[in-house]
Amino acid sequence: MKYFDVIVIGTGLAGLTAALELVENGKSVIIFEKEKVIGGRTSSWDEDGMIVESGFHRHIGYYKELPRVLRKVGVDPDKIVQWEENVDVRIKGKKDTATFGMSPIFGPIDMLKGVLGNNDILSWKDKLSLARFFVNGFIEYLKNPDSLDRASVRDYAKKHHVSEHALHYAVIPLSAGIFFLPPERYSCKVFFGLFLPAIQRFYRMRIGGYLGGMTELFAEPIANYIKKLGGEIRTESPVKRLLVEDRKVKGVILEDGSTVNANYIVLAADIGSAKTILKEPFLHDAAFHRLFQLKTMPAVTVQMEFTKPVLPYDRTTFGPLTSLASFAEQSRSTFTHVPGRLSIILTPPEKYLTMDHEEIVRQVQKEGKELGLDLESSLTNYRVVSRPEDFYSLEPNNDRYRPEQKTAIEGLVLAGDYTRQPYFATMEGAVVSGIKAAKIILQS
Ligand SMILES: Cc1cc2nc3c(=O)[nH]c(=O)nc-3n(C[C@H](O)[C@H](O)[C@H](O)COP(=O)(O)OP(=O)(O)OC[C@H]3O[C@@H](n4cnc5c(N)ncnc54)[C@H](O)[C@@H]3O)c2cc1C
Repeated sequence: MKYFDVIVIGTGLAGLTAALELVENGKSVIIFEKEKVIGGRTSSWDEDGMIVESGFHRHIGYYKELPRVLRKVGVDPDKIVQWEENVDVRIKGKKDTATFGMSPIFGPIDMLKGVLGNNDILSWKDKLSLARFFVNGFIEYLKNPDSLDRASVRDYAKKHHVSEHALHYAVIPLSAGIFFLPPERYSCKVFFGLFLPAIQRFYRMRIGGYLGGMTELFAEPIANYIKKLGGEIRTESPVKRLLVEDRKVKGVILEDGSTVNANYIVLAADIGSAKTILKEPFLHDAAFHRLFQLKTMPAVTVQMEFTKPVLPYDRTTFGPLTSLASFAEQSRSTFTHVPGRLSIILTPPEKYLTMDHEEIVRQVQKEGKELGLDLESSLTNYRVVSRPEDFYSLEPNNDRYRPEQKTAIEGLVLAGDYTRQPYFATMEGAVVSGIKAAKIILQS
């Protein structure tokens, strides 16, 4: 029987990064992935003739470790990203759009225009209330981030007298638009913690859409590099359970009944799957008590193809006060093989998890109309992608349950965006967790 130094479970960015760091340091590594396609929440695949993705993603200019990993495997991040200096907020019922600059260095004029203009949407009083809210939030985050986890964004906005108008057209686009949750369900710690690096690394700040599907753009290049260094990757190989003896890992049992042994396991599955795998050996183990209390949340996206573009340019757009949390036209950037394509993240996700897909599309078309979008007349194809438990919940009072990568079980290390690292549930967070997981093994 073949024996490995390390078994990695999952080919999301966390698992791939951990495996990359380990093979580079001479470890023999095998990765098991339950799906046919690698990449996890950063994947793209052909679903009955339509190319779909796990959901539209934005690359943030302040990311450090994801670009470093990409460069290592020969991918120039600037060549796979179409940078945007602005975001649009569409105003419900008005067929109007407010544009805000995101990049003080790459788009200073747009940034100034966004702050000084848009006065029909945000009055000077609204803007001042927002400035107070953000400054206080950042200061409090730097002083005591955990205290912020007790408050929801809505409560904090109320405490700092943010007007309803400013809440609707600035705070909701940022909370619902980024993590699909309305401000009353969104932890202040996550809200300010996610924006703080944008202030600290303001000179790199901008956001970008990918110039292709994510499996092809980065999961595959990372996987090929791992294979070149001797690592093995097996897709369609779900891990059923961990083999543990005397609180030390011995290997895994796959769904097909076969056993694979190793000294270490990096469990880099999403939180829902990680809980399932850990349940049998550790549900009543005090060392995992907190992890089992970490709540999860779903993500639901709808991806639509059209005979012509719906929007005049490919840019991140928010639809506050509707279910269309954030969306973008992608026919000039990510999916250029179709004349028109929109990827939409829905809020609140729970509402759409069990809804019939046709019904979801009807609802999206109706609410799209309220934002001045015609999502009906030239629609040719659509898919709904639902992920019931892939995210740890970003609601207040949940962050404290996020586990460290190191566990009390000898040889068992966790990785994934839900594990403790400063970038919350993002691609950068997943990469950082993978690096931390690999380091634990390399140092032991
Ligand atoms: C709709 C959407 C939009 C997003 N937008 C952004 C964005 O704009 N910017 C950003 O930075 N981040 C964004 N994210 C978040 C980002 O995608 C995730 O934080 C990151 O990809 C998580 O990586 P991961 O490796 O931790 O987990 P995952 O990518 O979930 O990887 C876990 C892997 O484990 C596999 N697995 C599970 N169970 C088993 C098993 N039993 N055996 C074998 N394999 C198993 C899964 O199939 C999966 O491949 C978004 C996510 C979604 C869903």
